Amino acid sequence: MEREYLNLIGGQWTPASSGATNPDRNPARTEEVVAVFPSGGREDAARAAEAAARAFPGWARTPLPRRSEILLKAAALLEQRLDEVAQALTREEGKTLAESKGETARGVSLLRYYAGEALQPTGDVYGSAVPSTFLFAERVPLGPVALITPWNFPVAIPAWKVAPALAFGNTVVLKPAELTPLTAWHLADVLDKAGLPPGVLNLVVGRGSQVGPALAESPHIKAISFTGSNAVGSGLAARCAERGIKFQLEMGGKNPVIVLADADLDKAVELTIAGAMLSTGQKCTATSRVIVHRDVLEGFRDRLVARASSLKVGDGMKAETYMGPLVSADAQKSVLEYIGVGKREGARVLTGGTRLEGGEYDAGYYVAPTVFDRVRPDMRIAQEEIFGPVVGVIEARDFDEAIALANDTRFGLSASVVTRDLGLALRFIREIEAGIVHVNSQTAGAEPQVPFGGFKGSSSGSREQGKAAREFFTQIKTVYLDPP
Ligand code: ADP
Repeated sequence: MEREYLNLIGGQWTPASSGATNPDRNPARTEEVVAVFPSGGREDAARAAEAAARAFPGWARTPLPRRSEILLKAAALLEQRLDEVAQALTREEGKTLAESKGETARGVSLLRYYAGEALQPTGDVYGSAVPSTFLFAERVPLGPVALITPWNFPVAIPAWKVAPALAFGNTVVLKPAELTPLTAWHLADVLDKAGLPPGVLNLVVGRGSQVGPALAESPHIKAISFTGSNAVGSGLAARCAERGIKFQLEMGGKNPVIVLADADLDKAVELTIAGAMLSTGQKCTATSRVIVHRDVLEGFRDRLVARASSLKVGDGMKAETYMGPLVSADAQKSVLEYIGVGKREGARVLTGGTRLEGGEYDAGYYVAPTVFDRVRPDMRIAQEEIFGPVVGVIEARDFDEAIALANDTRFGLSASVVTRDLGLALRFIREIEAGIVHVNSQTAGAEPQVPFGGFKGSSSGSREQGKAAREFFTQIKTVYLDPP
């Protein structure tokens, strides 16, 4: 029997108030139920928001070194169970075990990083025009915050929202994606065991369409940080704007790699493959367009196709697997639909383009690594986020056209250029419309100590991680202190 897990509300592990549950399934073997979770609804969300509100005054007063200690202890506990969490991640999300270990290790680093950040200065002292005035501005917490996270990085994204929210004195309701609750449960469990007081962190696994709006409407919730689709994000933003509360959205991407005429083509192929196919292309920073100078188009394309068609696809638990299944039946259907759209629009499939069938493939949601060429910028497959193992090759006649093509999208999360020319690399850095810029490295990847986020439709403009997280999770109190 698979284990039945519970939500954490006000320090109590509890079932959904309706009693409803939902199976957490393995996308590599859909018959396998990894765990059973509560299917929480509006009432659970409201109770969690109330619990977070009750816990807020005490947590806001908790000395920063104590908050820091709890985060450090949680980091140590997560590190101790790294293998267990990584296996849970692969079994519920499908990415390879190596990627799951890397992601869990990143969760540990994030908890440690914010344990340190908690001890950084909390404000600035200014000179006043009045000699007797002690004038300072302090960053103080917002209150209870709601954190709504997607399934594609189910440890790292909750960690990079929860850790700064707690470090800076907020209380939290975490609503992880229904598809991948087990990894988020581990994060909540280690923080609980590390000594967080009841109600400081609440976990509500449940239906996004119910729990999300209930959190956005709760009078207790003072800010929302969301990562997910543009459709849901813009709806949430409208609700937050109406209520006048702070919000932060991280959404889609259509991230380009530009391969210039002087590029090391083997390197260009490796980083395109890694960016496009790792995590089965299900990263907001995944590479989905590769814009290639016409002088090297043929050589690059042939090598890219050879590499893509040789990738080992299978269950992420097997050591030889490079790429696992898609996360769900809906995801598989949507990716196959986009492949059909690309073909109808006149792009050419060079490899892949179908679901994988036979043997173990019949048990899961597999799609072959897919490369299109003859992609034009006005095609839907050049404009819309596919979120799967699909990359489109677009030809450019020179650097200027390559940059124009790269910027011709409503998104602006990450981008990369492959070149040995320092002058062109510098122009790329200046001219590309993207929040995260790579030169000779893949479009994916995010270190905890630097800001993460996009330009244009990829984000609401604020940044996560690094010191930037303090800006979102605090507000400023300016104090004029005069002697009595
Ligand atoms: P993805 O394509 O990554 O699943 P979604 O935007 O559908 O993106 O989901 C991201 C998160 O938003 C998940 O935790 C999901 O449950 C939640 N969610 C879904 N619908 C809503 C909604 N109407 N309001 C708030 N959150 C929602």
